[in-house]
Amino acid sequence: MFDYGIDFWSKGDFIIEDGKVKLGANPKIAIIDIVNKARESGYKGPLLIRFPHLIQKQIDKLFNSFHSSIKQYKYKGKFRAVFPLKVNQFPNFILPLVEASMDKDYGLEAGSKAELIIAMAYTNIKSPITVNGFKDKEMIQLGFIASNMGHNITLTIEGLNELETIIEVAKDMNPPYPNIGLRIRLHSMGSGIWAKSGGINSKFGLTSNELLEAINLLKDSNLISQFTMIHFHIGSQISDISPLKKALREAGNIYAELRKMGCENLSIVNIGGGLAVEYTQHAGHNNKNYTLAEFSADVVFGLKEIAKNKKEKEPDIFIESGRFIAASHAVLIAPVLELFSQEYDEDSLRLKEKNPMLIEELLDLYKNINERYAIEYLHDSLDHMESLLTLFELGYIDLQDRSNSEVLVHLIIKKVIDTLKHKNHNEILRIQEQIQERYLLNCSFFQSMPDYWGLGQNFPVMPLNKLNIRPTRSASLWDITCDSDGEISFNKNMPLFLHDVDIKQEEYFLGFFLVGAYQEVLGMKHNLFTHPTEFSVIFDDEEDCGYIIENLLEAQNILDVLDDLDYDTKDIERRLKQRIDEAQDLNDESKKEVLGQLYIMLSENGYLRTIRKNP
Ligand SMILES: *Cc1c(COP(=O)(O)O)cnc(C)c1O
Repeated sequence: MFDYGIDFWSKGDFIIEDGKVKLGANPKIAIIDIVNKARESGYKGPLLIRFPHLIQKQIDKLFNSFHSSIKQYKYKGKFRAVFPLKVNQFPNFILPLVEASMDKDYGLEAGSKAELIIAMAYTNIKSPITVNGFKDKEMIQLGFIASNMGHNITLTIEGLNELETIIEVAKDMNPPYPNIGLRIRLHSMGSGIWAKSGGINSKFGLTSNELLEAINLLKDSNLISQFTMIHFHIGSQISDISPLKKALREAGNIYAELRKMGCENLSIVNIGGGLAVEYTQHAGHNNKNYTLAEFSADVVFGLKEIAKNKKEKEPDIFIESGRFIAASHAVLIAPVLELFSQEYDEDSLRLKEKNPMLIEELLDLYKNINERYAIEYLHDSLDHMESLLTLFELGYIDLQDRSNSEVLVHLIIKKVIDTLKHKNHNEILRIQEQIQERYLLNCSFFQSMPDYWGLGQNFPVMPLNKLNIRPTRSASLWDITCDSDGEISFNKNMPLFLHDVDIKQEEYFLGFFLVGAYQEVLGMKHNLFTHPTEFSVIFDDEEDCGYIIENLLEAQNILDVLDDLDYDTKDIERRLKQRIDEAQDLNDESKKEVLGQLYIMLSENGYLRTIRKNP
């Protein structure tokens, strides 16, 4: 695997050229150049790089696809969309998104009071706002305030009690009132690991009986004219399109039935989110079985058919896709700190005048490896290693012998791989499983890819350069948390190969792609590693490098992290200072020096500062 499956997951957003990962856009900036520039400015830890042009690209794709399906089927309803804030609420994502969608019917979706405040402040005033999730009276009042401001807002009712509260609030508030949407509980289910939002047992939505009751309540309170939308959401990352089609038929028929019952202003079917992102790097492991074009065509065609059969007008189509819009815009860069086998070089051998026989044999194997016998020698050496470990346990060889056998076996592994690297990859793959290299990364998977930890979600990963050199080491990845779950282990069905680099001589970086959806706000401060230093890359013709860096946000320093946990940081500083003052073994000069060093550390973030040791 030379190209790390880039054609499966990147869709031209990123390309490989001259052995480097570059932006697929013009200018084709190499990511490694951006990283090196940031590191020259002192940012040595992990980096989260945002590419706002990719937000624009996804919004355009979504609208273009639906507009073209609408044209193709001569569909009479309109297309509108909102971005669900829960997918990424950070201002460095949301502000560019709002700007990129000025010319479109594109708004924001909120699921909590705080998200609604973001939507009320930033949504372009004519663009839609939808509010989903459980709501109390206060949140409903907030919705009324938003409509008073002039926002085009729809409150989606998840249960009858919410509708009763709306009716109550409407009595106290002046028009214009918000629009009302009803979330329907579907019989159909989503598929994939996130499919908990749809279905008859779902957490959200009204049953048919409750729908009828809701219509009566709306009519009795003269609010039926505000009822404009029905809504469903069958779950995130829909892998198979058929449940969506089923859900559409169900929702389409409910739409038509409700119109026939006198819901004259009902004109929108909101199909929620769920449009999947292709994360796979490996053929045959696709995350979805449809394209965007197929998705939009199925939605438009499905609703058109129902409207025709039921002789109702074709509804406006409303979508709340989040993952699809946000995933590609952010890339996590993790510096490799160490290859665990690197300490095993020839210099670390401490051979004796007279070595145990098995060690002499290992030495012999190592010297004589050739292409023909490479695999056989490798197996022999692994056997010898087993025997030597047993001998150590029984007390027949000493620690120096044991160290020599470990070093020799690693040297043999490396030499075998090097000897066979031009050969059929399958053969190497067979031995690779036993002899992986462990790469230690300066990042926290818990902070930057929580869905890997929580859901087993894989994100595409690849080195930023050396892509014209065949990678030979089967890799397992370790983050710097001291939690054994902070590991992405080698999977022979979806193998990851990386380069054998000497980190003392050169730097090596891995990029994790498609991390822009959900990961940031779900990320946790396990071991107190915080959000990495982040910035946005904005194209600029006037710069020689073709871009400028904006919205730089440094990783939190240690004291701020402790402050977030509600420690009294002044107290921490006072205690540390007092302990140094009282230290018996230090003179005044040293006390000052130690205190100075400590203050510098408190003002820095907790990630490791990789220092390249030149030989
Ligand atoms: C989470 C959510 C979305 C977004 O789903 P994606 O899979 O990110 O597109 C949309 N609508 C509702 C109601 C949601 O809860």
